[in-house]
Amino acid sequence: MIEFHDVCKRYATGQEALNKVSFTVEEQEIVFLTGHSGAGKSTLMKLIMLMEKPTSGQVMIGGRNLGRLGKSHIPYHRRQVGVVFQNHQLLFDRTVFDNVALPLQICGIHHREVARRVRASLDKVGLLNKETAYPVSLSGGEQQRVGIARAVVNKPPLLLADEPTGNLDPELSAEIMELFRQFSEVGVTVMIASHDVELIKRMHRRVLTLEGGQLIHDGVVW
Ligand code: ADP
Ligand code: ADP
Repeated sequence: MIEFHDVCKRYATGQEALNKVSFTVEEQEIVFLTGHSGAGKSTLMKLIMLMEKPTSGQVMIGGRNLGRLGKSHIPYHRRQVGVVFQNHQLLFDRTVFDNVALPLQICGIHHREVARRVRASLDKVGLLNKETAYPVSLSGGEQQRVGIARAVVNKPPLLLADEPTGNLDPELSAEIMELFRQFSEVGVTVMIASHDVELIKRMHRRVLTLEGGQLIHDGVVW
């Protein structure tokens, strides 16, 4: 699902963010991406989302070389990648339903189909009863689940999460991880950037560790 081949990224400032990074993530895998602040985690995810381009090397997603993707395929590619942020980036002047519907409305999908998919997505994260609520009335864990429902409403084969449990206590973090596990069971590949060492240890999953832009470790034992 994800292939990096000798990927280097140097920003226009001269700052090197990734140095010869190579790895492969299979469909349906759950992998953690870890490393100190500045190690290159966000850069790696931005390359997958096509928000940045590598200076050299290749990034392949779902068998497509992103460097050879025509302009017209970029929106299609972005819909294949669901993204969950730490601060969930919800719109506080819109209901839960409207927040989750947003990615579908952008694609111009008929409102009945939108309603069906939004409810299927809210159902998966256990928030079907909150569709008319506003985010401000929800707990932090519920807000994060709305963010996840929005990220998967398009049924992307790949889900990227940047510090998805950053503001949550261990119990809520475990709930969020359980959701990711359920998505992976239906075929979704999940990549989670996290600093949360305790959480990562508990999960016993593959961990990619970056340090100064280099992949210094790739494996389960960490
Ligand atoms: P992390 O997500 O692990 O904290 P980043 O990928 O954000 O790491 O950053 C990796 C390195 O690249 C850091 O030295 C950072 O300062 C630098 N960097 C990130 N984004 C930019 C940018 N847009 N322009 C210049 N340097 C950047
Ligand atoms: P439909 O197939 O009619 O669109 P659903 O939206 O209920 O119906 O989804 C059907 C199945 O696909 C569910 O079991 C769901 O868990 C699974 N599925 C496949 N890909 C994804 C994804 N990216 N996110 C969430 N669920 C997914």
